[in-house]
Amino acid sequence: MDYDIIIIGAGPGGYEMAAEAARQGLNTAIVERGFVGGTCLNHGCIPTKALCHCAQVLRSVRSAAAYGIECGTVTADYSAAARHKAAVVEQLRQGVAQLMSAPGITLVQGEASIAGAHTVSIDGGKHTLTASHIVIATGSEPRNLPIPGADLTMSSGEALAMTSLPQRMCVIGGGVIGMEFAGIFAAYGVEVTVVEYCKEILPPFDKDVAKRLRTVLQKQGVKFITQAAVTAIGRTASGLTVSYDLKGKPQQLECQKALMAVGRKPVLPEGLEQAGVAVGRRGIEVDSHMMTSVPGIYAIGDVNGQCMLAHAATAQGMVALAHITGKESSVKLGIVPSAVFTQPELAMVGLTEEQCKAQELDVTVKKGFFRSNGKALSMGETDGLVKMIVSNADRTIVGCHICGPHASDLIQEVVMAMNAGSTVGDLAAAIHGHPTLSEAVQAVARQF
Ligand code: FAD
Repeated sequence: MDYDIIIIGAGPGGYEMAAEAARQGLNTAIVERGFVGGTCLNHGCIPTKALCHCAQVLRSVRSAAAYGIECGTVTADYSAAARHKAAVVEQLRQGVAQLMSAPGITLVQGEASIAGAHTVSIDGGKHTLTASHIVIATGSEPRNLPIPGADLTMSSGEALAMTSLPQRMCVIGGGVIGMEFAGIFAAYGVEVTVVEYCKEILPPFDKDVAKRLRTVLQKQGVKFITQAAVTAIGRTASGLTVSYDLKGKPQQLECQKALMAVGRKPVLPEGLEQAGVAVGRRGIEVDSHMMTSVPGIYAIGDVNGQCMLAHAATAQGMVALAHITGKESSVKLGIVPSAVFTQPELAMVGLTEEQCKAQELDVTVKKGFFRSNGKALSMGETDGLVKMIVSNADRTIVGCHICGPHASDLIQEVVMAMNAGSTVGDLAAAIHGHPTLSEAVQAVARQF
């Protein structure tokens, strides 16, 4: 065999696993057809967060007068935000490229396909590589609605490539990606309308926090049309028409550009069927060790459709590596935080209240609000709440949902508590610094 492991795809699943495998002394090859860093670094997490930050600075400057800071007429050049985003991406890309040049890692540039249980073919058979283990980490790509004119819309990648913004935009889909773009564009003065199929935005999130965020985004100028099914996109002289069915009634809205943000689907490399790798509705099927139906072939990250988040891809890579090296993994794949980087942020871990009800779990739910938190009040960011769900059987935390400033960071202490199997009493008893936003989490824990 040429290698111990061949990893296909250098996203956060693949490159983190390659780095760790090499650290553990495994001879590792990683094959990438595009830029290292994958969707996350090049067209996903990082560029969106760079733009979210620009939008946040803009909102802060606009609200500075409330603190006696006069900035005169505020102008915002979106092309500068696009340059900031590109610089951040480039810097991190260089960092990942450097990581992939570490001893023990061979980075192969090309398109990989599966040619057997231990063989990977590069660029249609130009050369082949063999390994004891193959890890498929090929990620995902945007889904499109099967409607006339869908090709007239933009994908998230195309939206990120814009260097100037239209006056009026439609965001099709009120999921995480749609909400982050809606928040960014609205800050830059774009008239944004979100068309969402479900009754509430962000379907996987707790209804309370999702509703809270929608209300705040509405205040920021974003319009929402919910329970609406987009049926067609048409071209007009000045842009596009988005046709949709609102509770059975056909309607239309005009915009210059429309972003299709209705989810993502796995990117499957060639050769899976011939090799006997089973693929299900969500993606490549895997067991709890991330192994596919073919022993020795693993699938991690978005491609297995289990949890389409960058840190979940990385964690799954660690689970697969532990299995390959015959070690026990301590990673708990059931406890994964997720966040929406709007202003305010949304973050969650564990079950929602609706899921607890559906599963008839014996739980208690308590809420607290940022308006009574000294730090949030000082920051002028009092919109939002913390909602905690605790098991009545053993007082462990079943879920936590936060809408508020720095929610994506705040959720982490709850993740830690859940990982350690701590009770809500442990969280309440731990001394929290004052004045901090984390006291809002502790205040809710104290209610139990
Ligand atoms: P990817 O990152 O998609 O990497 C797969 C790699 O495989 C790619 O580089 C691709 O070129 C390569 N590849 C594919 N096929 C082949 C082949 N045949 N041969 C060689 N190479 C191949 N997640 C978060 O956790 N937080 C966020 O804030 C967040 N924001 C997002 C914002 C946007 C706009 C989008 C689109 C996604 C966001 N995500 C976020 C999701 C996150 O990007 C993905 O969950 C993550 O990138 C998945 O990692 P991965 O390693 O599985 O795949």
